Amino acid sequence: MKKVIEKINKLAGDIGRDVNLMEVCGTHTQAVARAGLRELMPKNIHLTTGPGCPVCVTAQEDIDAIVNLALAGVPVATYGDMLRVPGYYGSLDEAREKGAKVFSVYSVEEALELLKDYPELVFFGLGFETTTPMTAYAIQNACLSGRQGLTVYSTHKLFLPAMEALLKIGELKIDGYIAPGHVSAIIGMEPYEKMNVPQVITGFTAEDILVGVYMLLAQIKEKEAKIENEYLRCVRNEGNPTAYKTIFDVFEIADGNWRGFGIIPESGLEIRKKFSKYDAKVKYKSILDKVDFAKSRRPTPCKCGEIIRGLKEPKDCPVFKKVCKPENPVGPCMVSQEGACNVAYRYEKQ
Ligand code: SF4
Repeated sequence: MKKVIEKINKLAGDIGRDVNLMEVCGTHTQAVARAGLRELMPKNIHLTTGPGCPVCVTAQEDIDAIVNLALAGVPVATYGDMLRVPGYYGSLDEAREKGAKVFSVYSVEEALELLKDYPELVFFGLGFETTTPMTAYAIQNACLSGRQGLTVYSTHKLFLPAMEALLKIGELKIDGYIAPGHVSAIIGMEPYEKMNVPQVITGFTAEDILVGVYMLLAQIKEKEAKIENEYLRCVRNEGNPTAYKTIFDVFEIADGNWRGFGIIPESGLEIRKKFSKYDAKVKYKSILDKVDFAKSRRPTPCKCGEIIRGLKEPKDCPVFKKVCKPENPVGPCMVSQEGACNVAYRYEKQ
C-alpha cells in the first residue's frame, strides 16, 4: 500500500491542480471511509461520494407509493434498509406498527416463500443491474410455473445514465470515476466507452481503491479519458451476458425517477407488458392513483439530494448527528449501511 500511496503522491504533484474523483458504488463509499483513504490522499486529490447507494436514490414518490400500498392492506416485502426510509406517509416500519403486513427479506426468493402464507404480495424491487436480474428471474419463474400472487413494484434502475447525468449537469467538475465493481460484473466494459472521462472499474479492498486512484491519476496526467479495469478477478470485458439479457427479457427501459436528480431519461426499468400481471403498478393502480404525490415533493431539511450529486458532505447538513442518527434517520442516506451519512456517522471523525 505504501508504494501505491507514494506513486499517487508523485502523480498528484505532477498534475498540480485539484482533482475530483467520484466513487459511485455504496460498497466503495464504505470501503473508503473504513480504511480512512480520504486522509491518505494528497491535498489536491478529493474522493467524493456519488449516487451509488440504491436505497438513497430511490425517489420519495416511490417510498410513498409503497407505504400507501402497505397501509391499504397489501402485503409488502423488501430489503431491510428500505423499511426505515421515512416518507411523507411514514416508513414501511411505521406502516407495520399500524398493522400493515410488511416483511424484511434478503432476496426476492425469500419474498416468494411468503406466498405460502399470503395469497398476494408486492415485492418492492430496487437497485441497479446487480439486483435486477434476481427480480427478473423471479418474474420469469413465476410466469413459467404459473405461480400466482407475486407482483413487483419496480424502482430498478440502470446506473450509467446517472453517471452521464452528473457529467451533463456539470455542478461538480468530475475528473474521473471510480466505476462500480458489482454493476460492471453484469454490464461489462463496453457501455462505459461513450463517456468522455477517465474511469477505472475498481474492486473493494483498500488496495484495489488505491490502485484505482493511481490508474485514474495516470490517465489524467496523460490527458486520456478511457475505461480501464482494475477488478480483473471479477469483471470480464463482456460482463455477464446471461444476466444482462434476463433483465431486458422482463424489463423495458423507461424514464427513471431518482432522489437528488428527478427524472433521468432512459434510466428506469419497468416491467414489460407481456409480464404485466406481475406489475404492482398495474394491479394496484386504483390505490396508487389516489396517493397525493405533491406531498412527496414537499421541501425537507434533508440534504441527501445534494450529497448524492457530490455537492455536499454529511457534515454540511445541519441535522447530521444532532437530530439525524442511524437510530433516528431523517433521510435515506442515514438509513442505508451504504448511505454517505450513515457511513460518515460510523467511520469518520467530524
Ligand atoms: S444527515 Fe440526515 S437529514 Fe442530513 S442529509 Fe444526511 S440523511 Fe439527510
